[in-house]
Amino acid sequence: MKQILFLFIFITIISKCYSQKVLDSIVNKGTTALGIDVLVNIFYIEDVKVASDAEALLTGSNGVYDIYLRKNQTLEEAKIAICHELIHIYQYETKSLIKKANGIVLWNGVNYSYNDIPYEDREWEAEAFNKGMKLFKKIRN
Ligand SMILES: [Zn+2]
Repeated sequence: MKQILFLFIFITIISKCYSQKVLDSIVNKGTTALGIDVLVNIFYIEDVKVASDAEALLTGSNGVYDIYLRKNQTLEEAKIAICHELIHIYQYETKSLIKKANGIVLWNGVNYSYNDIPYEDREWEAEAFNKGMKLFKKIRN
């Protein structure tokens, strides 16, 4: 019984280290493919106790970003979520998307209010989904 518990803990630690490595590698491949020189840290939403049902959250600016993932994702879901957020990072770095005060964003030179435009109608989200999936297919392995 003791051996089984030990084995379980061992496998849990190894698989955690392995997936962290895989996710860091996706970040490296993604930023290289996008041609952006940024620092991206991966965290988990549950660890920072942010109430969210999102697949991932992104914070940061000017070359340094944090991506927060849901913990119970499959590795593939985590990779797709990272690729989506990497496209947002690309949008911020190239200034096609600029976050301003009071929930206003500047998207390709036009002001939008976050609250006035539903998530599914936000063009920067459509771009992140489309280009994120293309990026994922390119660098998934
Ligand atoms: Zn998004």
